[in-house]
Amino acid sequence: MSSLLNLPAAELVTRLAAGDVTSAALTEECLAAISQRDSSVRAFLNVDVERSLAQARSIDARRAAGESIGILQGLPIAVKDLICEEGVSCTCASRMLENYISPYSAHVIERLRAAGAVLVGRANMDEFAMGSSGENSAFQVTANPWDLERTPGGSSSGSAAAVAGRLTPMSLGSDTGGSIRQPASLCGVVGLKPTYGRVSRYGLVAFASSLDQIGPFASDVHGAALLLEAMAGHDPRDSTSVDRPVPSYTNSLNEPLKGLRIGVAREHFAEGLDDEVAEVVRRALDVYRSLGAELIDIELPHSKYAVAVYYLIAPSEASSNLARYEGIHYGHRTEKAGSLADLYARSRGEAFGTEVKRRIMLGVYALSSGYYDQYYVKALKVRRLIRNDFDAAFAKVDVIAGPVTPSTAFKLGERTSDPMAMYLSDIYTIPANLAGIPGISIPAGLSPSGLPVGLQLQAAPFAEETLLRAARMFEAATDHHRLIPPMARS
Ligand code: GLN
Repeated sequence: MSSLLNLPAAELVTRLAAGDVTSAALTEECLAAISQRDSSVRAFLNVDVERSLAQARSIDARRAAGESIGILQGLPIAVKDLICEEGVSCTCASRMLENYISPYSAHVIERLRAAGAVLVGRANMDEFAMGSSGENSAFQVTANPWDLERTPGGSSSGSAAAVAGRLTPMSLGSDTGGSIRQPASLCGVVGLKPTYGRVSRYGLVAFASSLDQIGPFASDVHGAALLLEAMAGHDPRDSTSVDRPVPSYTNSLNEPLKGLRIGVAREHFAEGLDDEVAEVVRRALDVYRSLGAELIDIELPHSKYAVAVYYLIAPSEASSNLARYEGIHYGHRTEKAGSLADLYARSRGEAFGTEVKRRIMLGVYALSSGYYDQYYVKALKVRRLIRNDFDAAFAKVDVIAGPVTPSTAFKLGERTSDPMAMYLSDIYTIPANLAGIPGISIPAGLSPSGLPVGLQLQAAPFAEETLLRAARMFEAATDHHRLIPPMARS
């Protein structure tokens, strides 16, 4: 019998709703897959078998009693280990929070529970979401299910690998500069970063507050639409959460977009993009053309500054957000401290990893009184120009299509000693965070060497409905999302 986990997420939800499969049976399959395969994928930091089975059984009992279950219908989901869940450890893959247990649940966790999700475990990540390969985790290195010697991408490494490795059909990640879309692309799954303000950040451990968004991973576009629908909407506990109705993303998903106008930016095909990625993306554009979409050239002239701007703004915000971890209010406390200042310095020195320290140093430098105007304020101004480019583009087109990341999955260890090479992984994803617009990565096929390549679609603020419909159009025409890594086939 072929495993249920080979089916796309939305089909599983349909089967659960129809009573063809129970949540307990599906959760057991996930737990079995995790025990068989996660010793090689290493997507999970923590799996609570008893708790997830208890959740699943209670959902099944409620369904049997005629209660309505919510749109996720008992589907098992993995959660990136920086989203707080009451009574559960939340390490951010850092020694700093190794022993931290969340005293409350994030807004998205409350929403997921209300929607009938089974939360099976906590997914590995780069420490405090800083990284593009998962190698900055203090605890383990996650492998790409398509090739265990390669990275799944990051920072939502475990969330992407769990879905690609058919360990859970969906997961939650967070995206500050590309951390959902880049690993989704490298792992051949769907990953969506919503508009800034669409999903509450209450209970998300902050990295760079003006850029962070929680978003869904799923094995298909319909699954991502369901998960977004379950989480999106206003939350008064996050002052940047926008009070605006949430459309039913799933209802309109299969209505094809007549005369879809797709913007293609010259800047997305400039130097630095690997030929094999460019080739897959060009073929994807041909698919849209054959479906009746109109391809229109657009310009994003300030996008070339995006990485530089991001590495001023994100570290600046991070240096402030991470100031709370000093061993007293939060986090690891040194055993060797003399003075108070010494306690701060040693606690932070002992528990933060190299990349986190590098970001804090960059941030405090950019914010220091002598350099604030020259670096931080300048970066804010260029950030506005980047947003203006998108506003001008979306006056002419519905979505922008292009690559997600310049290469396919690179070998573990290949970029760890070269931070610039690592930072450039996000060259095509960072602009959406700076501009606050939504973006999605969808499977676009395999490279000649058999590794997944994603297609990125971006849309105007709050145009997730258009984004998902455009993504679904491609998926329905190609079926690349049904490709499963050999190690996960059963
Ligand atoms: N890779 C980028 C960074 O290291 C983006 C991370 C993210 O989106 N959380 O900052």
